[in-house]
Amino acid sequence: MWSSPEKVVAMLLRSLTRSSSNASTSLFFRLFPRSYFSRSSPATARSIRRLSDAGTGSELFLRRGLRLLPAAASGCLSGQFSRAVSTQTAPSYPGQDEAEKLGFEKAREEFISECKSKAVLFRHKKTGCEVMSVSNDDENKVFGVVFRTPPKDSTGIPHILEHSVLCGSRKYPLKEPFVELLKGSLYTFLNAFTYPDRTCYPVASTNTKDFYNLVDVYLDAVFFPKCVDDVHTFQQEGWHYELNHPSEDISYKGVVFNEMKGVYSQPDNILGRITQQAKNTYGVDSGGDPKDIPKLTFDKFKEFHCQYYHPSNARIWFYGDDDPVQRLKVLSEYLDMFDASPARDSSKVEPQKLFSGPRRIVEKYPAGGDGDLKKKHMVCLNWLLSEKPLDLQTQLALGFLDHLMLGTPASPLRKILLESGLGEALVNSGVEDELLQPQFSVGLKGVSDDKVQKVEELIMSTLRKLADEGFDTDAVEASMNTIEFSMRENNTGSSPRGLSLMLQSIGKWIYDMDPFEPLKYEEPLKTLKARIAEEGSKAVFSPLIEKFILNNPHCVTIEMQPDPEKASQEEVEEKNILQKVKASMTDEELAELARATEELRLKQETPDSPEALKCVPSLNLSDIPKKPTYVPTEVGDVNGVKVLRHDLFTNDILYTEVVFDMGALRHELLPLMGTQDMSFVQLNQLIGRKTGGITVYPFTSSVWGSDVPCSKIIVRGKSMVGRAEDLFNLMNCVLQEVRFTDKQRFKQFISQSRARMENRLRGSGQGIAAARMDAMLNAAGWMSEQMNGLSYIEFLHTLEQKVDQDWEGISSSLEEIRTSLLSKNGCIVNMTADGKSLTSTEKFVGKFLDSLPEKPSGGQVTWDARVPLRNEAIVIPTQVNYVGKAGNIYSSGYKLDGSSYVISKHIGNTWLWDRVRVSGGAYGGFCDFDSHSGVFSFLSYRDPNLLKTLDIYDGTGDFLRGLDVDEDTLTKAVIGTIGDVDSYQLPDAKGYSSLLRHLLNVTDEERQIRRAEILSTSLKDFKEFAEAVDSVRDKGVAVAVASQEDIDAANKERSDFFEVKKAL
Ligand SMILES: [Zn+2]
Repeated sequence: MWSSPEKVVAMLLRSLTRSSSNASTSLFFRLFPRSYFSRSSPATARSIRRLSDAGTGSELFLRRGLRLLPAAASGCLSGQFSRAVSTQTAPSYPGQDEAEKLGFEKAREEFISECKSKAVLFRHKKTGCEVMSVSNDDENKVFGVVFRTPPKDSTGIPHILEHSVLCGSRKYPLKEPFVELLKGSLYTFLNAFTYPDRTCYPVASTNTKDFYNLVDVYLDAVFFPKCVDDVHTFQQEGWHYELNHPSEDISYKGVVFNEMKGVYSQPDNILGRITQQAKNTYGVDSGGDPKDIPKLTFDKFKEFHCQYYHPSNARIWFYGDDDPVQRLKVLSEYLDMFDASPARDSSKVEPQKLFSGPRRIVEKYPAGGDGDLKKKHMVCLNWLLSEKPLDLQTQLALGFLDHLMLGTPASPLRKILLESGLGEALVNSGVEDELLQPQFSVGLKGVSDDKVQKVEELIMSTLRKLADEGFDTDAVEASMNTIEFSMRENNTGSSPRGLSLMLQSIGKWIYDMDPFEPLKYEEPLKTLKARIAEEGSKAVFSPLIEKFILNNPHCVTIEMQPDPEKASQEEVEEKNILQKVKASMTDEELAELARATEELRLKQETPDSPEALKCVPSLNLSDIPKKPTYVPTEVGDVNGVKVLRHDLFTNDILYTEVVFDMGALRHELLPLMGTQDMSFVQLNQLIGRKTGGITVYPFTSSVWGSDVPCSKIIVRGKSMVGRAEDLFNLMNCVLQEVRFTDKQRFKQFISQSRARMENRLRGSGQGIAAARMDAMLNAAGWMSEQMNGLSYIEFLHTLEQKVDQDWEGISSSLEEIRTSLLSKNGCIVNMTADGKSLTSTEKFVGKFLDSLPEKPSGGQVTWDARVPLRNEAIVIPTQVNYVGKAGNIYSSGYKLDGSSYVISKHIGNTWLWDRVRVSGGAYGGFCDFDSHSGVFSFLSYRDPNLLKTLDIYDGTGDFLRGLDVDEDTLTKAVIGTIGDVDSYQLPDAKGYSSLLRHLLNVTDEERQIRRAEILSTSLKDFKEFAEAVDSVRDKGVAVAVASQEDIDAANKERSDFFEVKKAL
């Protein structure tokens, strides 16, 4: 995984100002993956790219796919209120003596009230390694080691190294200990990130034994990796020439190489890369430019590790309820083996001088040949804000300003740009302050070539106007409430809270600044609030806009122009280089290359020996609780409507979901459902002032044992308990009072949605492929695809034209949707808060329900539509493919058993990981079993292959039949699966999971049965599952999102295997 400056989750305020309202959709019952993600996660608007729409599985398998935290998880900053578990006092801290004995000196110690933690900064005396030891009552323990790794070129060394150190080490000499941990640990977080100037290795677990196992594997990996002695890892993760036979063509292979080809296929990413025009570290790409990656040598790679992966250049973080002395003990074992090195000085990032005047850059990006290319320009203005790091007060104010200008659809800069009709959607917009020098960017994509100038003028004049006139008082109040709410809520979604704190702290610490400061926001926030109250918001914000933007000479304007030739040109260039390489080689050298290719392949495909596997520490089955986690649920009734109540400590916040039945909707209207979130644009400010957010989205899934899919509309909201009345009033307003009369706003909404979907198609094509296959295989999948798949993209194209011709018709269809959905009948309310708050807010629920129309149920329309069953290839301009194959294993006779979760996880972590990723060179390969529908699907991600990947999928049955797993491997697979099932959840997520289980008839009894089946999975189950997988091979359907060239080649090789569809 890799992250670039403009995409990095910015710290402090940036993290505060993003919505976390849907965090929990991504972490509910992990046993039932993909179907929920793509369908129920509406919060894509300001999101940092995440892969979760391919399912939870992908987050694990594509460990490097998540760029930092999922967007939903970033709406956090530890609140000043206690978290929801217990109030036991923190454990004692090692005294000076104990730390001294272990070789550490205490540099500083503080109690941080914002996160109720005692934090101690230690210095390892021998090496100078710094350690933040944060103790509190959070059971979700976090460890992280971070190195400063500034690259000098774009060969991607830091990124390739990040992948490679996890491929075996001194104590753990396996091919990939990381994968062994994925298989058999109870981790709540396991990943690694490359930033432009640092590399982070974080792990987390709630189980102490498991946690220290993870810590040890990671420490051994970073300090003593095998990859510096073994060129094969470098070749596999970085790049190598592949030659299967001397008579064939040479090609490039490598996991990072292909990952970055995918990144460089997306115009937003290309724009991000050139944004800063920096003359320092940030002017090169730490992730690696596919053109430069093959210039990297093994020697340079080794040198980089030797220089920077040293304790003197490391910062280490511990967080949670474990014993702080134990932390230092574990560390001293490693750190004592090193002497001090000058790495800490040589890795310093030098700030860049601000330009003395504005600059303009024009770049091309690869575009598809279809559509009006004249309308596909992008333009973005970027300011480097300061030569020196900003103080927290200014940083806080800038973050606040960012939220005011761009944070919500009602924010003026966002609103004016989008309503101008000059472009489709914002690009790269906002303050980024996680690197040494903060930056502000704002721009539009989908701009006509003759309107580029106009966009620039509009941005400047709007900023001028905001500086002159200031902001609306209501808007300032809304931003303040949003920020304070997210602090109090401290909702990090599926990511551990301790990780979020670590990333905030490291944002300063990595530049040798105070690691405590970013954790203590309460005082600066109070000061800022007081200033706004006394001087007025204009006096606070106008000077910031003047100084940092309007009068700042360092402004870089970037224009991106679509180039339909670029993708194929680049492919030709690459081919030419490779042909030259081949021409320059003698016959002996070619034979040697073919032999080396074969040697690498053999090595990749040879499994680790059982002895080697045993060295990775693992838990025993006896460490695993036999019972699933139960969420307290009381099913009651308010005014004739079913109400589910979950009595959980939520720190005075009420979380609620109101669920309506979608069954009464005419199915032609279904795609319009995708357009639901436009409805509350107008209400945004009010929602921001009174609540923690309201979202509306469709939810569809098959139901196990039933032919009728579950199809609902969910309205989710949250607020402080004291504002529950406002919350329900506003939900009512969103549902009943919004009028569908604003044609311009609707048009804007369509173009933004289209831009968002197209971005998904390029960046997460596996999600689109999966949805498409589901749509061929079951009704729930079909519905979901209409609202969030390729069909939806096609629908948006038609709708865009129809708005002008028949706005009346559309407007009345939207009204019809509302009337058919809104009814007390079939409605369900879900509430999560503590018992007292549940009781005190009941009257507002009653009032809300009374205001809903009471209609006799209009008769359930049963949907039984499907996309025609056929192999499809969706053409996009890309250098890497997304390849899927799926089939319904229930229809071939398979009966649901808990062992299927263990087996699918094992297939993903072994067979697919080894073949699709390691030897195939794809960034990821995984499988997913939707136990509700019976659909078993295979998917690959950023894959250089097409038919070859399908053949690997087809070989899965044989792989299972030939499998010989010993007791240890089996135990690991079982424990890993339980880890998925028991994933750590914050209270709102628990309540939400419980609601979804209720909707899908998943009872606690059934969960207990599945758990018992998981725990008793045997080798026999694996062999029997082979038959189910064979049915996917024989009767399944394949869908690929791929380049025209690869599709043509595939159709030539297997006479018209794919029906071809153009998408971009
Ligand atoms: Zn990566």
